[in-house]
Amino acid sequence: MASLDDSVGVLTGVGPKKLTALNQLGINTIEDLLTFYPYRYDDLKAKKLSEITDQEKVTLKGTVSSEPVLVRFGQKRNLLNVRLLVDDGNITVSFFNQPFLQKQFEIGKEVAVYGKWDDKRKSLSGMKLLTKQTDDGLAAIYRSSKDIHQTAIRQLITQAFEQYADEVGSLLPTELIQKYRLVNRKMMLHDIHFPKDEKNFHEAKRTAIFEEFFLFQLKLQYVKKTDTKNYGIKINYQNNELKKFIQTLPFELTAAQKKVVNEICADMKQAIHMNRLLQGDVGSGKTIVAAIVMYAAITAGYQAVLMAPTEILAEQHANNMATLFADFPVNVALLTGSMKVKARRELLAHLESGEVNLIVGTHAIIQPDVSFKRVGLVITDEQHRFGVNQRRILREKGAEPDVLAMTATPIPRTLAITAYGEMDVSTINELPAGRQPITTSWLKSSQVGKGIDLIKEQLAQGSQAYIITPLIDESETLDLKNALALYENMKEIFEPKYKVGLLHGKMKNDEKDQMMADFKANKYQALVSTTVIEVGVDVPNATVMMIYNAERFGLAQLHQLRGRVGRGKKASYCVLIADPKNEFGIQRMQIMTETTDGFVISQKDLELRGAGDVLGRKQSGIPEFKIGDPIGDINALQVAQQEAHEIVFRDDFENNPEFKPLNDYLKEHQNTDLKFD
Ligand code: ADP
Ligand code: MG
Repeated sequence: MASLDDSVGVLTGVGPKKLTALNQLGINTIEDLLTFYPYRYDDLKAKKLSEITDQEKVTLKGTVSSEPVLVRFGQKRNLLNVRLLVDDGNITVSFFNQPFLQKQFEIGKEVAVYGKWDDKRKSLSGMKLLTKQTDDGLAAIYRSSKDIHQTAIRQLITQAFEQYADEVGSLLPTELIQKYRLVNRKMMLHDIHFPKDEKNFHEAKRTAIFEEFFLFQLKLQYVKKTDTKNYGIKINYQNNELKKFIQTLPFELTAAQKKVVNEICADMKQAIHMNRLLQGDVGSGKTIVAAIVMYAAITAGYQAVLMAPTEILAEQHANNMATLFADFPVNVALLTGSMKVKARRELLAHLESGEVNLIVGTHAIIQPDVSFKRVGLVITDEQHRFGVNQRRILREKGAEPDVLAMTATPIPRTLAITAYGEMDVSTINELPAGRQPITTSWLKSSQVGKGIDLIKEQLAQGSQAYIITPLIDESETLDLKNALALYENMKEIFEPKYKVGLLHGKMKNDEKDQMMADFKANKYQALVSTTVIEVGVDVPNATVMMIYNAERFGLAQLHQLRGRVGRGKKASYCVLIADPKNEFGIQRMQIMTETTDGFVISQKDLELRGAGDVLGRKQSGIPEFKIGDPIGDINALQVAQQEAHEIVFRDDFENNPEFKPLNDYLKEHQNTDLKFD
């Protein structure tokens, strides 16, 4: 029986070679072929001479007004020239190497030609002589390869339609089709490839985008439903104990911190599996939120885990927690990959017995030989996703903990819905009161003297400075060489009056720690550093940062770096030294000087990259869609998420015949493209 799951190999004209070429384009089945959407359309509708512009690709309709002339150049090349009367004006049409068209141009005959317009010469270099009625509209253009051309793809899609149109069933629920005025699937698939007119094309495209976003969200929401409903523990924390702890803090929590603590605690108390993202700008105070909710789990008799991406950060968190909980029944331990065997063995025993109830560490925490007594909450810091697989590993250890992921890089809406679409999101949208603003300026490298003057001014007032060395390339050796050169240069400028320190990635951990401690103690007034400074450094007396070659850093990274100043009571400054080569680079520097709001920066960054750099988008974690643009079509994406959520979480989702196609779809696509690890 014919089915959309049939291989494209069943189509006439598809031999082994074409089949391979199709597979390479990601087309395996008839369904794949029918959803191989055009990436653009040529507008073949005839235009008027008065409305076209130089170098535009257009269709012109006119009457042949001269005999065609064929000019030959050597053996292989020739040009066919003919005059056309178009809207009362005579133009030249030329076709390169298509001598056989000559007989199509009889004087007085009406023809339509698609081609590229040259305004100065009043000539159209012809690409296509339009003959059929169907040519008069939008022509789909497909991604193709040297082994399979446009025409072949278009032909196969036509053929697939002839043979399989009756197999195209409905997929989206009727209520959604009506609510959003979409078209049915068969019509959508047809009209997206063979649009009759603009209106018809737009309806098809809107439907295709919605369907794509909806199906993507359907998978995410389904994961969320099964994940939250089937597992999960009730963490009955002791409110009084929690309050007592919060009262010992040297500051009042911000309203935003209180709000997110409440959201997280509410999740923990329920017998569902929490999978929540906590986002907040650098310095918004996420660590303390983590401490509070971990303590909640501990008061309910559970163990809490805090996972960090690097050993340095893990160590810092462990020290931090040990200080915070010094007077509480919390036993903090640190587990990293570089631990000695004996110490590690002892620690594992304490974890298993439950004696250690707050464990901080790197990925070493979820190694096979680590077992817990009763883990209730796992927190991951800095963009660490806790994947489906990692959760499975924990379940196999007999634990079904709630999960909280913390990120300092604010997630723009697009990413929150796509890359993190299966998670609930808590946002800390304010900084603690009394933070000093950071004034950012951008200087060309020829103006670096101004930056130096600013640093001198700040040092004269008893403040300290960071000087961030440029990234040369991926090579650490070159970056180091560069850091050393800058260090020498800065010593010449500032010493002996002020002392200059150096920090880079090739230093041993204890050397780095020593340098940071000395800088914090003001033994050095200026610190030349590579980006190792980025993570978790806190020196409130540092009020100025100068960043060389700022155009080479990502906006998120610049934002993180800049967050190292503005931590004390004094006003702070950031100087970007940059010579951006294009408009894109200039805009990025302007964004940095205009705002210190991480959410604005990340959204703008995404928009800029969305417009420009495809690779950047790939790395950003946004999945690739066939037709929808998760940045440009953000509203459709958001609506699709809401609708998918509502439908998946309905009690009759699995049994209502209306949703059968969706359930079938989920079964077929189980675990195929959901990679969370
Ligand atoms: P991040 O969100 O970047 O991880 P941290 O948790 O490191 O930020 O907090 C940054 C600094 O702000 C820390 O020194 C922390 O003690 C302090 N802090 C956190 N919350 C508050 C608050 N409500 N009021 C004042 N200072 C706070
Ligand atoms: Mg942090």
